[in-house]
Amino acid sequence: MLRIALDGPSGAGKSTLARDIADYYGITYLDTGALYRTVGLAAKLRGVDPHSETEMTELLPTVKIEVRIEAGEQRVYLDGEPVGERIRTPEMSMYASAVSALPCVREFLYETQRGFAKSNSVIMDGRDIGTVILPDADVKIYLVASDEVRATRRLNELKAKGIDTTYDEVLADMKRRDKADSGRSIAPAVKADDAVLLDNSNLDRENTLKAAVQIIESKMK
Ligand code: C5P
Repeated sequence: MLRIALDGPSGAGKSTLARDIADYYGITYLDTGALYRTVGLAAKLRGVDPHSETEMTELLPTVKIEVRIEAGEQRVYLDGEPVGERIRTPEMSMYASAVSALPCVREFLYETQRGFAKSNSVIMDGRDIGTVILPDADVKIYLVASDEVRATRRLNELKAKGIDTTYDEVLADMKRRDKADSGRSIAPAVKADDAVLLDNSNLDRENTLKAAVQIIESKMK
């Protein structure tokens, strides 16, 4: 069993690297941000305030969130329906960030995430994988990149999806989300003491994978 925790701020390239590592080692990839986004989507669809612990505590027992691996790809289902790209909008990023600060939501998603790592060799990406979800992971990587690089990557991603936005908007949203994620009192987005910092501001996709594989191999020795 190989369990890898990959954390870092938004736009650092975690999902691309996680997918590449999963392919390289033939292990399963779990994108935990998608789970928080799906809880955010549930709040929006039901008209629930994503900042309210009380309202969300009432909502959670009435929603069903499942993760299935289909043809090697993770699919998240909300009440039996695949969420697809609906969770990938800037609005859903803010909803995800809001719900993720609530203890009831973190507890709700804890078992799903832990359960995944119990039976599979995995790489999981998120904000608290190395600190809370897999504190005993074999390898922990904290991936960062400069604000400018992250905002440019996110802008290109959103544009490719046909979402109309600007660099300044993306940068402002990203900074707001970083501040909320790292400043919250529960499971803040911070580097685990034993995580290896990897800055990929000046690395392309291939070299980011190479650097990560080096970290993994040296930990596994
Ligand atoms: O990684 P992604 O941008 O999809 O995550 C969306 C939001 O979900 C983050 O901004 C963060 O607030 C929350 N999140 C979290 N813990 C995780 C993964 C994501 O709090 N493990």
